[in-house]
Formats: sequence, C-alpha cells, structure tokens
Amino acid sequence: MILEAHGVRKLYGAYVALDGVSLSIREGEFVSIIGPNGAGKSTLINVLTGVLPPSGGSVRFKGRDIAGIGTVALTRLGMARSFQLVQIFPELSVLETLQAAVISRLGRGARLLASLGADREVHTDALEVATLFGLGDKAHALARALPQGDKKLLDVASAFALRPEIILLDEPTSGVSTADKHVVMDILVKAAKRIGLRAIIQVEHDMDIVFGYSDRIIALHQGKVLADATPAAIQADQRVVDMVVGRRRAVDSRSNPSPPVGERAATVLGVKRAEHERGPSDGDV
Ligand code: ADP
Repeated sequence: MILEAHGVRKLYGAYVALDGVSLSIREGEFVSIIGPNGAGKSTLINVLTGVLPPSGGSVRFKGRDIAGIGTVALTRLGMARSFQLVQIFPELSVLETLQAAVISRLGRGARLLASLGADREVHTDALEVATLFGLGDKAHALARALPQGDKKLLDVASAFALRPEIILLDEPTSGVSTADKHVVMDILVKAAKRIGLRAIIQVEHDMDIVFGYSDRIIALHQGKVLADATPAAIQADQRVVDMVVGRRRAVDSRSNPSPPVGERAATVLGVKRAEHERGPSDGDV
C-alpha cells in the first residue's frame, strides 16, 4: 500500500466536510475521485497531500504519518501534485519552467535560479521531461503562448519533473477542448509509465476521462465514500450513477456516452493485477 487514509474527518467549524473517509492506493493504480460539487473532493486532496491537517483519522504515505506535513516535505517524500488551474509562470519558457522544477527537486535553490539553464544536468533533465510530454519542440516558447492543452501538460510536466513516486492531479483536463482531452491523458499515462510512477490519483469531472483511464473509482458524496470499485462496477451501481455519474452527465452537455467499461488484466500503469483484484468479467483470457 502506497497511500492510506483511515477514518479521515475534516471539520470547517461545525461543518463536517469529510466524515470518516478511508481509502488505500496500491502499486500501479490509477484512481479517480469523483463526486458532485461540495462532496469533499478538494478537501480530501488537500488532506492527502498534507496541506490540511485532518480533524480526525490518519493519512499514511509509504507507511509514514503525513497528516498536515505540508507540500514541501511531502514532495521530498515522493508525492507531487498538479492543480485544476494551471500554475505556470506566463513569462517563463517551457524549458525554464521545467528547469525551475528540477532545481527545486535538486535543492539547489537561489544560487542556480540566478543562472537558470547554466547547469547541464538541470538542462538535460528539464529537456527530457519536456520531450516526454511532447513539448520538446516548444522548449523555448513562452508558457503564456501555449494552447490550453499544452499549458495543462506543462503544469503536469512540472509536477513530473519533481520525479515523484505518486502524483495527485486536480482535473488534469479541465479547460481542455473535448478533442484534446484524450491526447493530454494519453501523453500523461505514457509519461507516467516512462518515469515509473507508482500511482496516480486524479479528481476529474469528465466521466469519459474517468471511465476511460481509471483502474478504480472512488465516489464521494456528502463527505463520505459512497462507492470504491472498478469502473465496470461503478457503472453498474445505480446509486452512484444516480447521485454522481448521471448528474454530472446531465450538466456536462459536451460529454458523450462512454463505451461499456471492461476489466483489465493489468493496471493503467501496466502493473499486473493480482488474481483476486480482478472482476468476474475477466474470464480466462
Ligand atoms: P468539492 O471539491 O467536492 O466540490 P470541497 O472539498 O471543496 O468539495 O467542499 C466540501 C464542503 O466543504 C463544501 O460544502 C464547501 O462549501 C465546504 N468548504 C470547503 N472549504 C471550506 C472552508 N475553507 N471553510 C468552510 N467550508 C469549506
């Protein structure tokens, strides 16, 4: 188990935003967290990334208690995060943005920031990440000049440049055109495999993306886990469809119906599943 939350509660004053949330993320998994607005998704991500201390319960990353540990310490432990709204510096180039991330990872700080790009290791590493994300030929373009899909990719690439073991993505395709969403996700999954990421967690509203890329889906509702199952099982759970999936589809007019979801023998990141983790529909193939 890489990441585990047990009985997590989060109160804002008297308001209960998370009410006993337990979950565990295993090696090689791509897990999506879904739920209607106000379900507690952002709060959960903030607790899982050590930004918010839980009011009760525990959060463990690689066996270590990380409750309220803070982003910097957690990044050092191997967890990175990208945000719903891109957090890039518009006046930096693609390469400079990634160099800044590499520098922060290497802990070289202010000394090197003064001569961004002067260090060969930093330059090579940043260029490698840019190439991995299909941004190699745009390395010298300013971040602000990139189309939205590339901006999202650059934001995610910055998190990957920290060489995390696990990454949490907050709506990786929000603001990206429907046509480009799968391009962004395909690049992201490929890059994740290349750098050997151990797990991905995403919060995502687009159900095509959720069902198309997840090994497992955790549905939150009113601060509680409503369901935690494979995409196929979630699709067959009328309660979740009514409360989360269907409602979302109704408001998202751009969304097309997803094809029926099958079970995979391996996770999205390519880790072979244990026999007991597979659904009954896998058969003998
Ligand atoms: P989601 O991301 O699923 O939309 P949130 O985690 O943002 O849900 O919010 C869950 C609930 O907690 C909402 O009712 C929201 O209004 C409330 N909430 C979120 N942040 C705060 C805060 N800082 N103070 C008070 N209430 C908050």
